Amino acid sequence: MWGPVALALALAIACGGDPAGAALPPAGGGPPLDPSPWVAATDGTIPLVIVVSHGGSVAPAWLPDRDCVACVTATDLKTHELAIAIADGFDRRVGARPFVVANLLHRRKFDANRAVAEATGGHVPLEAMWTLFHARIDSAKARALRQHPRALLIDLHGHGHPIARLEIGYLLTSGDLRAPDAVLAPRFSAAGVAAVPSAALPAPAAADAYFSGGYNTWRHDSLGGGAVDAIQVESHYLGVRDTPAARTAFAETFVTVLLQYLADHYDWRPA
Ligand SMILES: [Zn+2]
Repeated sequence: MWGPVALALALAIACGGDPAGAALPPAGGGPPLDPSPWVAATDGTIPLVIVVSHGGSVAPAWLPDRDCVACVTATDLKTHELAIAIADGFDRRVGARPFVVANLLHRRKFDANRAVAEATGGHVPLEAMWTLFHARIDSAKARALRQHPRALLIDLHGHGHPIARLEIGYLLTSGDLRAPDAVLAPRFSAAGVAAVPSAALPAPAAADAYFSGGYNTWRHDSLGGGAVDAIQVESHYLGVRDTPAARTAFAETFVTVLLQYLADHYDWRPA
């Protein structure tokens, strides 16, 4: 007779699944849910933290699906892979990496860009995951600030809107980031990747869907104190996220744009 541990391990092996899926449910009166396999955090040395909220695919059957009213459950396909490609791109170019923090749970189970009740769908044991995810981001920010006076956080998403362009969201009132020469989108446009808002297109047409920045951008931005500015980047799929070659090519553009941006606004240049 197999106990729950052996059974869960056997299922994980049988599915050839990510070992992260082997995390065990909290049994009645047993240990609390351990969310640590569901957050991937890698260290960096440059003043950039990349957060991946919706790229996860781990979906243990024992974890209830979120069933909140009107909650979104679609994943941002390949955004974790894109973040890794970007980190690798920095490594190749300048021999240093950004910090990366990724939620590995499928959005059906957990939404890492929402306040706790909507994030967990009201499943109280999963609040430990929400707490850990933000603790890992806070830790990455703190480690970046031990090496640099200021840092930038990019919450990296994928959208399925009909127009193939980056949608860059600023919740900020920070004059620095709103100044015409400071916004990120025109730099991507100049580098050949369509992006809004930009000088040519200061605001998307009213009929066009546009993500302006969500919970993480609000929570982790310097507006609430601290020395880390947060920006949400929503990427289109084709030519950016869809294939390894596309991700590598986009990562090269991303690195070029961000190196200039970090030099201009964070006074950071590779050694
Ligand atoms: Zn998203």
